[in-house]
Amino acid sequence: MSQTSDTLGRPLRDLRISVTDRCNFRCAYCMPKEVFGKDFAFMERSHLLKFGEITSIVKAAVPLGVRKVRLTGGEPLLRKELEWLVSGLKAIDGIEDIALTTNGSMLVQKAQALADAGLDRVTVSLDSLNDETFRAMNDVNFPVARVLAGIDAAIDAGLTPVKINMVVKRGMNDDDVVEMARHFRGKPVILRFIEYMDVGMKNGWRLEDVVPAGEILKRVAADVALEPIEANYEGETALRYRYADGEGEIGFIASVTKPFCATCHRARLSADGKLFTCLFAGQGHDLKTLIRDQNASVEQLRDALAAIWRVRTDRYSEIRSDDTGDLPRVEMSYIGG
Ligand code: SAM
Ligand code: SF4
Ligand code: SF4
Repeated sequence: MSQTSDTLGRPLRDLRISVTDRCNFRCAYCMPKEVFGKDFAFMERSHLLKFGEITSIVKAAVPLGVRKVRLTGGEPLLRKELEWLVSGLKAIDGIEDIALTTNGSMLVQKAQALADAGLDRVTVSLDSLNDETFRAMNDVNFPVARVLAGIDAAIDAGLTPVKINMVVKRGMNDDDVVEMARHFRGKPVILRFIEYMDVGMKNGWRLEDVVPAGEILKRVAADVALEPIEANYEGETALRYRYADGEGEIGFIASVTKPFCATCHRARLSADGKLFTCLFAGQGHDLKTLIRDQNASVEQLRDALAAIWRVRTDRYSEIRSDDTGDLPRVEMSYIGG
Protein backbone atom coordinates (compact mmCIF):
# COMPACT_ATOMS: atom_id res chain seq x y z
CA MET A 1 0.00 0.00 0.00
CA SER A 2 1.32 3.46 -0.82
CA GLN A 3 1.62 6.21 1.76
CA THR A 4 -1.55 7.69 3.13
CA SER A 5 -2.11 11.42 3.54
CA ASP A 6 -4.77 13.17 5.60
CA THR A 7 -7.27 15.79 4.36
CA LEU A 8 -4.57 18.48 4.57
CA GLY A 9 -2.05 16.41 2.59
CA ARG A 10 0.03 15.44 5.64
CA PRO A 11 1.62 11.98 5.57
CA LEU A 12 1.88 9.77 8.64
CA ARG A 13 5.53 9.43 9.65
CA ASP A 14 5.86 9.20 13.45
CA LEU A 15 4.08 7.12 16.01
CA ARG A 16 4.33 8.03 19.68
CA ILE A 17 3.51 5.13 21.89
CA SER A 18 2.47 5.54 25.49
CA VAL A 19 3.32 2.37 27.42
CA THR A 20 1.77 3.40 30.73
CA ASP A 21 -0.37 6.22 32.12
CA ARG A 22 1.42 6.01 35.49
CA CYS A 23 4.27 8.20 36.63
CA ASN A 24 6.50 8.58 39.67
CA PHE A 25 6.49 12.39 39.27
CA ARG A 26 3.62 14.81 39.68
CA CYS A 27 4.65 17.76 37.50
CA ALA A 28 1.88 20.32 38.00
CA TYR A 29 1.67 21.10 34.27
CA CYS A 30 0.95 17.43 33.51
CA MET A 31 -0.26 15.35 36.48
CA PRO A 32 -1.15 17.78 39.26
CA LYS A 33 -1.12 16.05 42.64
CA GLU A 34 -4.59 17.29 43.56
CA VAL A 35 -6.04 15.37 40.60
CA PHE A 36 -3.65 12.43 40.30
CA GLY A 37 -3.77 11.54 43.98
CA LYS A 38 -3.91 8.26 45.90
CA ASP A 39 -7.41 7.52 44.67
CA PHE A 40 -6.87 8.26 41.01
CA ALA A 41 -8.03 5.39 38.82
CA PHE A 42 -5.14 4.55 36.52
CA MET A 43 -5.62 1.99 33.76
CA GLU A 44 -5.98 -1.58 34.89
CA ARG A 45 -2.99 -3.63 33.87
CA SER A 46 -5.12 -5.99 31.79
CA HIS A 47 -6.10 -3.01 29.62
CA LEU A 48 -2.52 -2.13 28.72
CA LEU A 49 -1.43 -3.25 25.28
CA LYS A 50 1.01 -6.13 25.47
CA PHE A 51 4.35 -5.68 23.73
CA GLY A 52 3.30 -8.05 20.92
CA GLU A 53 0.14 -6.01 20.36
CA ILE A 54 2.19 -2.83 20.13
CA THR A 55 4.58 -4.34 17.60
CA SER A 56 1.64 -5.53 15.47
CA ILE A 57 0.31 -1.97 15.32
CA VAL A 58 3.76 -0.64 14.40
CA LYS A 59 4.10 -3.28 11.66
CA ALA A 60 0.73 -2.16 10.33
CA ALA A 61 1.83 1.49 10.37
CA VAL A 62 5.04 0.98 8.36
CA PRO A 63 3.36 0.51 4.95
CA LEU A 64 1.50 3.77 5.57
CA GLY A 65 4.78 5.68 5.98
CA VAL A 66 5.75 5.44 9.67
CA ARG A 67 9.53 5.38 10.08
CA LYS A 68 9.99 6.69 13.63
CA VAL A 69 8.59 5.56 16.92
CA ARG A 70 8.92 7.20 20.32
CA LEU A 71 8.12 5.44 23.58
CA THR A 72 6.58 7.68 26.17
CA GLY A 73 3.90 7.82 28.85
CA GLY A 74 3.32 8.52 31.77
CA GLU A 75 6.81 7.45 32.70
CA PRO A 76 7.77 4.73 30.20
CA LEU A 77 10.54 3.29 32.36
CA LEU A 78 7.93 2.24 34.91
CA ARG A 79 6.90 -0.41 32.40
CA LYS A 80 8.82 -3.58 33.26
CA GLU A 81 11.35 -4.94 30.74
CA LEU A 82 10.80 -2.07 28.32
CA GLU A 83 13.97 -3.18 26.53
CA TRP A 84 12.06 -6.22 25.25
CA LEU A 85 9.67 -3.91 23.45
CA VAL A 86 12.63 -1.99 22.04
CA SER A 87 14.14 -5.17 20.58
CA GLY A 88 10.76 -6.13 19.11
CA LEU A 89 10.50 -2.74 17.43
CA LYS A 90 14.09 -2.87 16.23
CA ALA A 91 13.31 -6.08 14.36
CA ILE A 92 10.57 -4.41 12.28
CA ASP A 93 11.67 -3.70 8.69
CA GLY A 94 11.14 -0.04 7.85
CA ILE A 95 11.51 1.38 11.35
CA GLU A 96 14.55 3.63 11.18
CA ASP A 97 14.52 5.41 14.50
CA ILE A 98 13.45 4.37 18.00
CA ALA A 99 13.42 7.07 20.66
CA LEU A 100 12.31 7.33 24.27
CA THR A 101 11.07 10.29 26.31
CA THR A 102 11.64 9.88 30.03
CA ASN A 103 11.88 11.91 33.21
CA GLY A 104 15.32 10.34 33.64
CA SER A 105 14.71 9.09 37.17
CA MET A 106 15.51 5.48 36.26
CA LEU A 107 18.01 5.96 33.45
CA VAL A 108 21.05 5.10 35.53
CA GLN A 109 19.72 1.56 35.84
CA LYS A 110 18.19 1.27 32.37
CA ALA A 111 20.22 3.24 29.80
CA GLN A 112 22.69 0.49 28.87
CA ALA A 113 20.06 -2.26 28.54
CA LEU A 114 17.93 0.01 26.34
CA ALA A 115 20.89 0.90 24.14
CA ASP A 116 21.83 -2.79 23.86
CA ALA A 117 18.26 -3.59 22.80
CA GLY A 118 18.52 -1.09 19.94
CA LEU A 119 17.20 2.20 21.31
CA ASP A 120 18.60 4.98 19.09
CA ARG A 121 17.94 8.12 21.09
CA VAL A 122 16.65 9.41 24.37
CA THR A 123 14.99 12.65 25.41
CA VAL A 124 15.16 13.51 29.10
CA SER A 125 12.82 16.04 30.64
CA LEU A 126 14.52 18.41 33.07
CA ASP A 127 12.93 21.70 34.01
CA SER A 128 15.61 23.28 36.19
CA LEU A 129 19.12 22.80 37.52
CA ASN A 130 18.11 24.54 40.71
CA ASP A 131 17.43 21.66 43.08
CA GLU A 132 14.73 23.48 45.02
CA THR A 133 12.87 24.54 41.88
CA PHE A 134 13.17 21.07 40.33
CA ARG A 135 11.92 19.32 43.45
CA ALA A 136 8.94 21.68 43.51
CA MET A 137 8.20 21.16 39.82
CA ASN A 138 8.28 17.35 39.94
CA ASP A 139 6.34 17.67 43.21
CA VAL A 140 7.73 14.44 44.64
CA ASN A 141 10.93 16.01 45.96
CA PHE A 142 13.10 14.25 43.36
CA PRO A 143 16.66 15.67 43.24
CA VAL A 144 18.27 17.15 40.12
CA ALA A 145 21.47 15.19 40.72
CA ARG A 146 19.81 11.86 39.96
CA VAL A 147 18.43 13.08 36.65
CA LEU A 148 21.86 14.48 35.75
CA ALA A 149 23.34 11.07 36.57
CA GLY A 150 20.72 9.51 34.26
CA ILE A 151 21.71 11.88 31.46
CA ASP A 152 25.37 10.89 31.95
CA ALA A 153 24.38 7.22 31.84
CA ALA A 154 22.56 7.82 28.54
CA ILE A 155 25.62 9.58 27.11
CA ASP A 156 27.88 6.74 28.28
CA ALA A 157 25.53 4.21 26.67
CA GLY A 158 25.92 6.07 23.35
CA LEU A 159 22.33 7.35 23.17
CA THR A 160 23.66 10.64 21.81
CA PRO A 161 22.95 13.37 21.21
CA VAL A 162 20.72 13.25 24.28
CA LYS A 163 17.90 15.76 24.01
CA ILE A 164 16.78 17.62 27.11
CA ASN A 165 13.23 19.00 27.27
CA MET A 166 12.66 21.97 29.55
CA VAL A 167 9.07 23.15 29.84
CA VAL A 168 9.21 26.83 30.74
CA LYS A 169 6.48 28.21 32.97
CA ARG A 170 6.37 31.87 33.91
CA GLY A 171 7.27 32.59 37.51
CA MET A 172 8.34 28.99 38.03
CA ASN A 173 11.55 28.31 36.11
CA ASP A 174 11.87 31.05 33.49
CA ASP A 175 14.82 32.54 35.37
CA ASP A 176 16.72 29.27 34.91
CA VAL A 177 16.90 29.20 31.11
CA VAL A 178 20.33 30.85 30.78
CA GLU A 179 21.87 28.60 33.42
CA MET A 180 20.47 25.52 31.64
CA ALA A 181 21.95 26.65 28.32
CA ARG A 182 25.33 27.33 29.95
CA HIS A 183 25.35 23.97 31.70
CA PHE A 184 24.70 21.86 28.60
CA ARG A 185 26.71 23.91 26.08
CA GLY A 186 29.67 21.92 24.79
CA LYS A 187 28.18 18.57 25.90
CA PRO A 188 26.71 15.87 23.57
CA VAL A 189 23.29 17.22 24.46
CA ILE A 190 20.65 19.30 22.64
CA LEU A 191 18.61 21.39 25.05
CA ARG A 192 15.11 22.29 23.88
CA PHE A 193 12.90 24.87 25.54
CA ILE A 194 9.21 24.02 25.33
CA GLU A 195 6.34 26.44 25.65
CA TYR A 196 3.90 25.42 28.35
CA MET A 197 0.85 23.98 26.54
CA ASP A 198 -2.85 23.65 27.30
CA VAL A 199 -2.79 19.87 27.00
CA GLY A 200 -5.53 18.09 28.94
CA MET A 201 -8.09 19.78 31.17
CA LYS A 202 -6.47 19.44 34.58
CA ASN A 203 -3.38 21.63 34.73
CA GLY A 204 -5.18 24.98 35.04
CA TRP A 205 -3.31 26.35 31.99
CA ARG A 206 -3.38 30.11 31.49
CA LEU A 207 -1.93 31.97 28.53
CA GLU A 208 -0.11 34.34 30.87
CA ASP A 209 1.94 31.42 32.24
CA VAL A 210 3.38 30.72 28.77
CA VAL A 211 6.82 32.18 28.15
CA PRO A 212 6.98 32.68 24.37
CA ALA A 213 9.92 30.95 22.69
CA GLY A 214 10.95 34.33 21.24
CA GLU A 215 11.42 35.67 24.76
CA ILE A 216 13.47 32.65 25.84
CA LEU A 217 15.60 32.97 22.71
CA LYS A 218 16.32 36.63 23.53
CA ARG A 219 17.42 35.76 27.05
CA VAL A 220 19.77 33.01 25.88
CA ALA A 221 21.08 35.04 22.92
CA ALA A 222 21.90 37.92 25.26
CA ASP A 223 24.27 35.56 27.07
CA VAL A 224 25.87 33.75 24.13
CA ALA A 225 25.79 34.28 20.35
CA LEU A 226 23.37 32.01 18.45
CA GLU A 227 22.80 31.38 14.75
CA PRO A 228 19.64 29.83 13.27
CA ILE A 229 20.05 26.53 11.44
CA GLU A 230 17.84 24.64 9.00
CA ALA A 231 15.35 22.04 10.15
CA ASN A 232 16.62 18.46 9.79
CA TYR A 233 13.44 17.46 8.00
CA GLU A 234 10.01 18.84 7.14
CA GLY A 235 7.77 18.83 10.16
CA GLU A 236 10.51 19.11 12.78
CA THR A 237 8.94 20.70 15.82
CA ALA A 238 11.97 22.54 17.17
CA LEU A 239 13.31 25.80 15.78
CA ARG A 240 17.04 25.04 15.74
CA TYR A 241 19.98 27.28 16.65
CA ARG A 242 23.68 26.66 17.06
CA TYR A 243 26.18 28.36 19.28
CA ALA A 244 28.23 30.68 17.07
CA ASP A 245 31.43 29.35 18.66
CA GLY A 246 30.62 25.79 17.54
CA GLU A 247 29.79 24.47 21.02
CA GLY A 248 26.58 22.72 19.98
CA GLU A 249 22.91 23.22 19.30
CA ILE A 250 19.75 24.27 21.13
CA GLY A 251 16.10 24.32 20.09
CA PHE A 252 12.82 26.05 20.82
CA ILE A 253 9.45 24.31 20.59
CA ALA A 254 6.95 27.09 20.10
CA SER A 255 3.78 25.04 19.98
CA VAL A 256 1.66 27.90 21.31
CA THR A 257 3.16 30.98 19.62
CA LYS A 258 4.28 29.34 16.34
CA PRO A 259 2.15 26.23 15.80
CA PHE A 260 3.42 23.57 13.40
CA CYS A 261 0.15 21.79 12.55
CA ALA A 262 0.71 22.33 8.81
CA THR A 263 3.46 19.72 8.83
CA CYS A 264 2.28 17.56 11.72
CA HIS A 265 2.72 13.92 10.77
CA ARG A 266 2.43 12.33 14.20
CA ALA A 267 -0.09 9.92 15.61
CA ARG A 268 -0.25 8.81 19.22
CA LEU A 269 -1.15 5.43 20.64
CA SER A 270 -2.39 5.35 24.22
CA ALA A 271 -1.31 2.57 26.56
CA ASP A 272 -4.76 1.01 26.26
CA GLY A 273 -4.63 0.93 22.50
CA LYS A 274 -6.45 4.03 21.28
CA LEU A 275 -5.05 5.95 18.35
CA PHE A 276 -5.14 9.75 18.63
CA THR A 277 -4.42 11.93 15.62
CA CYS A 278 -3.76 15.09 17.67
CA LEU A 279 -2.29 15.87 21.07
CA PHE A 280 -5.40 17.94 21.77
CA ALA A 281 -7.93 15.37 20.64
CA GLY A 282 -10.92 14.55 22.78
CA GLN A 283 -11.28 10.96 21.64
CA GLY A 284 -9.19 8.16 20.22
CA HIS A 285 -9.88 5.24 17.90
CA ASP A 286 -9.97 1.89 19.61
CA LEU A 287 -7.43 -0.52 18.11
CA LYS A 288 -7.26 -2.85 21.10
CA THR A 289 -10.73 -4.25 20.46
CA LEU A 290 -9.75 -4.91 16.86
CA ILE A 291 -6.71 -6.87 17.99
CA ARG A 292 -8.06 -8.64 21.08
CA ASP A 293 -11.69 -9.27 20.31
CA GLN A 294 -11.72 -9.34 16.54
CA ASN A 295 -8.33 -10.95 16.05
CA ALA A 296 -7.41 -8.43 13.33
CA SER A 297 -4.44 -9.29 11.12
CA VAL A 298 -1.63 -6.79 10.49
CA GLU A 299 -3.24 -6.05 7.08
CA GLN A 300 -6.60 -5.36 8.69
CA LEU A 301 -4.93 -3.09 11.24
CA ARG A 302 -3.13 -1.28 8.40
CA ASP A 303 -6.45 -0.65 6.66
CA ALA A 304 -8.03 0.57 9.89
CA LEU A 305 -5.12 2.97 10.48
CA ALA A 306 -5.29 4.23 6.91
CA ALA A 307 -9.03 4.86 7.20
CA ILE A 308 -8.47 6.88 10.39
CA TRP A 309 -5.58 8.92 8.97
CA ARG A 310 -7.25 9.68 5.63
CA VAL A 311 -10.07 11.67 7.24
CA ARG A 312 -7.84 13.53 9.74
CA THR A 313 -8.47 17.29 9.91
CA ASP A 314 -6.69 18.20 13.19
CA ARG A 315 -4.97 21.58 13.56
CA TYR A 316 -5.79 22.53 17.14
CA SER A 317 -2.80 24.77 17.82
CA GLU A 318 -3.53 26.84 14.72
CA ILE A 319 -7.12 27.43 15.72
CA ARG A 320 -6.57 27.78 19.49
CA SER A 321 -8.83 30.52 20.84
CA ASP A 322 -11.07 31.27 23.81
CA ASP A 323 -13.65 29.02 22.12
CA THR A 324 -11.37 25.98 21.88
CA GLY A 325 -10.47 26.23 25.57
CA ASP A 326 -13.54 24.28 26.66
CA LEU A 327 -13.28 21.47 24.10
CA PRO A 328 -12.64 18.14 25.81
CA ARG A 329 -8.98 17.11 25.61
CA VAL A 330 -7.35 13.95 26.92
CA GLU A 331 -4.53 14.22 29.44
CA MET A 332 -0.91 14.19 28.28
CA SER A 333 0.00 11.40 30.71
CA TYR A 334 -2.67 9.24 29.04
CA ILE A 335 -2.05 10.03 25.41
CA GLY A 336 1.75 10.25 25.67
CA GLY A 337 3.73 13.46 25.22
N1 SAM B 1 7.33 11.13 31.76
C1 SAM B 1 8.12 11.36 30.60
C2 SAM B 1 8.77 12.71 30.65
O1 SAM B 1 8.38 13.54 31.46
O2 SAM B 1 9.68 12.90 29.86
C3 SAM B 1 7.37 11.18 29.31
C4 SAM B 1 5.97 11.70 29.22
S1 SAM B 1 5.80 13.47 29.35
C5 SAM B 1 4.05 13.65 29.21
C6 SAM B 1 6.44 13.98 27.78
C7 SAM B 1 6.87 15.42 27.68
O3 SAM B 1 5.74 16.25 27.76
C8 SAM B 1 7.82 15.88 28.76
O4 SAM B 1 8.98 16.46 28.19
C9 SAM B 1 7.02 16.93 29.51
O5 SAM B 1 7.83 17.92 30.04
C10 SAM B 1 6.10 17.44 28.42
N2 SAM B 1 4.88 18.07 28.94
C11 SAM B 1 4.00 17.57 29.82
N3 SAM B 1 2.99 18.45 30.05
C12 SAM B 1 3.27 19.53 29.28
C13 SAM B 1 2.62 20.79 29.07
N4 SAM B 1 1.49 21.10 29.69
N5 SAM B 1 3.18 21.66 28.20
C14 SAM B 1 4.33 21.35 27.54
N6 SAM B 1 4.98 20.18 27.69
C15 SAM B 1 4.47 19.30 28.57
FE1 SF4 C 1 5.32 12.37 34.73
FE2 SF4 C 1 6.43 13.21 32.51
FE3 SF4 C 1 4.02 14.11 33.23
FE4 SF4 C 1 6.11 14.88 34.65
S1 SF4 C 1 5.73 15.33 32.48
S2 SF4 C 1 4.18 14.10 35.48
S3 SF4 C 1 7.41 13.12 34.51
S4 SF4 C 1 4.51 12.05 32.67
FE1 SF4 D 1 -0.23 18.16 15.46
FE2 SF4 D 1 -2.46 18.59 16.84
FE3 SF4 D 1 -0.13 19.55 17.73
FE4 SF4 D 1 -1.31 20.62 15.55
S1 SF4 D 1 -2.09 20.65 17.63
S2 SF4 D 1 0.87 20.09 15.78
S3 SF4 D 1 -2.23 18.77 14.64
S4 SF4 D 1 -0.67 17.39 17.51
